[in-house]
Amino acid sequence: MPAITNHLPTEELQALDAAHHMHPFTANRELGDKGVRVITRANGVMLYDSEGNEVIDGMSGLWNVNIGYGREELAEVAARQMRELPYYNTFFQTTHVPAIALAAKLNELSPETMNGVFFASGGSEANDTNIRMVRTFWELKRKPNKKIFISRRNAYHGSSVGSGSLGGMAAMHAQGGLPIPGIHHIGQPNWWSEGGDKTPEQFGLDCALELEQAIRELGEDNIAAFIAEPIQGAGGVIVPPSTYWPEIQNICDAHDILFIADEVITGFGRTGNWFGSETMDIYPDIITFAKGVSSGYQPIGGSLVSEELTVLLGESEFQHGYTYSGHPVAAAVALENLRIMEEENIIGHVRDVAGPYLKQKWEALTDHPLVGEASIVGLMASIALTPNKENRAAFASDPGTVGLICRERSFANNLIMRHVGDRMVIAPPLVITTEEIDMMMERIWKTLDETESFLKTNDLLKSRA
Ligand SMILES: *Cc1c(COP(=O)(O)O)cnc(C)c1O
Repeated sequence: MPAITNHLPTEELQALDAAHHMHPFTANRELGDKGVRVITRANGVMLYDSEGNEVIDGMSGLWNVNIGYGREELAEVAARQMRELPYYNTFFQTTHVPAIALAAKLNELSPETMNGVFFASGGSEANDTNIRMVRTFWELKRKPNKKIFISRRNAYHGSSVGSGSLGGMAAMHAQGGLPIPGIHHIGQPNWWSEGGDKTPEQFGLDCALELEQAIRELGEDNIAAFIAEPIQGAGGVIVPPSTYWPEIQNICDAHDILFIADEVITGFGRTGNWFGSETMDIYPDIITFAKGVSSGYQPIGGSLVSEELTVLLGESEFQHGYTYSGHPVAAAVALENLRIMEEENIIGHVRDVAGPYLKQKWEALTDHPLVGEASIVGLMASIALTPNKENRAAFASDPGTVGLICRERSFANNLIMRHVGDRMVIAPPLVITTEEIDMMMERIWKTLDETESFLKTNDLLKSRA
């Protein structure tokens, strides 16, 4: 077989991909028939494909390339670490400098109450750790009945059996026998779709009270933890009403349950602070992290845990770990990523420059006839597409039909936007400049206009009865 390189014609690469490569979250035959887009290189916020197109990556890869593409320093650090110590484990009374240094750095950057860190290779693994770690914690506290996790419908916590069960994605639960027992789901604070006649404030409060009610029904003595993303990412960048988080925090404080903030997306600057917990003023016992910690240059994630958990779990052996827990190359790259973020004040850029600038442009999208709600915190944002914003109507077509049309138009206009049902989502690299934001917004307006005329032509601009 000849070498498979960027220089092969696109059709050949597509055919090979279709023959052997099983894509995640993809109908593979359909994709094979259509022809996959081949990304060959990237720089800053731009991707380049095998046809020479320059595409704005409005999604930072999968919400993770926070620092942007093409940072030489990260490549250098990885090469240096591979030469010095490409791998060693942290299981059997050994450690190495990258793991020590990253653990210490994470302790410094994370909220005051965080203390220990348990490494994994990504968010799914970290949330699986959380399931076992939290239940073990309660066993050590001699409260072994505390096993149930309360989560939320339409949450995303990963794709493994455990983390997929913690998540609340109906389509995922429909496959492969999820969720596992011991996971209870309550509603999501999605006012646009589910708020009915309530004000956002009332709806937010009522959603939070579902937690209180679940605790009462299931029994506090049986509940291990509540887990939630400060802002749901994969669920469609759902920013809760202002009343939601304060009430959730009150409820967690009033009961003997742990609170896990899944910050895999909201961590490391996305919301304009190091952690979304700071932005939303919440106080978790555990923070799940991954994605942005290394800006995706290496796969690494983990669980940051409070002092009480760190100490108690340290009393005995926790029978858990991954071959790549604290992988030296991944840890070294994450550390360098964090160093650059601090040195270049990238969080300040999100908070004071790019965030406010995008917010102004983003909220103006509600002037477009198709756009109902526009939500944004820091550099994660969404719009709800609707045939009638007066009554927040859903489209008559199957959910996601219009979103997919809009996504395809966006792709054609050389902008990566994601659709979640009929919501459109962006989360650009945190280093995006105001000029690049202008370029991105221009493409979004064009995409929305084209989507609207397509819907008109095809009689799809209709509300569900
Ligand atoms: C992506 C994501 C995960 C899963 O992380 P992986 O690295 O894909 O395993 C978990 N939680 C949230 C909130 C995520 O966005």
